[in-house]
Amino acid sequence: MLKIGCHLSASKGYLHMAKEITAIGGNTFQFFTRNPRGGSAKPLDEKDAAAFRKYAAENGIEVILAHAPYTLNGCSADPAIRDFARRTMADDLERMEATPGNLYNFHPGSHVGQGVEAGITMIADMLNSILKPEQTTIVLLETMAGKGSEVGGRFEELREILDRVSLKDKMGVCLDTCHVNDAGYDIVNQLDGVLTEFDRIIGLDRLKAVHINDSKNPLGAHKDRHEKIGEGFIGTEGILRVMRHAALRELPFYLETPNELDGYEREIHLLKAGFDH
Ligand code: FE
Ligand code: FE
Ligand code: ZN
Repeated sequence: MLKIGCHLSASKGYLHMAKEITAIGGNTFQFFTRNPRGGSAKPLDEKDAAAFRKYAAENGIEVILAHAPYTLNGCSADPAIRDFARRTMADDLERMEATPGNLYNFHPGSHVGQGVEAGITMIADMLNSILKPEQTTIVLLETMAGKGSEVGGRFEELREILDRVSLKDKMGVCLDTCHVNDAGYDIVNQLDGVLTEFDRIIGLDRLKAVHINDSKNPLGAHKDRHEKIGEGFIGTEGILRVMRHAALRELPFYLETPNELDGYEREIHLLKAGFDH
């Protein structure tokens, strides 16, 4: 069964998001663990988490995806910012044990002139200081557009981070269609080739989730501006080929397109209909 959903606001809690996604035809969702620009998280509501777990079990929500704040940068040149990233991620992962067995995605970071290798080392060090053998959450590195000094625009960079993490079974990758397009991977015309490359460098068994976004920019633009499905350079068919691909079709898919709920509802229905054809 297709797992599809979109990014939702977490302000009203887990149960609210679960009901919201069901109402618009989805069966999974993504949310920010706290304000996307960082800051402190609301205290965890254990009753809401329990009500969510029951609702999810009864309504076919098999997995959800938490997204770390954008400001989290584990490879900043500023030790205080690196320390903030470490504390934020550790706290997020501890809170996620209230909803066990799910996914946590983060942007690897920006090395801000220190160089990719230094960035990769700091990101891996952060993960090694945070991951615990007993945690049930899988932490995902997101494929990035390669904008500015972003780490993770090349599959090789993600591979290097994974190589240096000790608890490898706690790690995975989230592929973002807009980001890989902008990074220069031609998923529109060469999807098989891109996935073969992903498999060779990272391993398709590491891929745990897909962000399905159209892109406002052409292949290799290094921009990262998401577009509504069908209105960008990837197109509806381009997104559907990704979703239908034998190597990807069992994964959960998340829209992060510039939409309100009604727009997400339209895109979920469009892609569900297209997926079966
Ligand atoms: Fe992201
Ligand atoms: Fe994304
Ligand atoms: Zn993006």
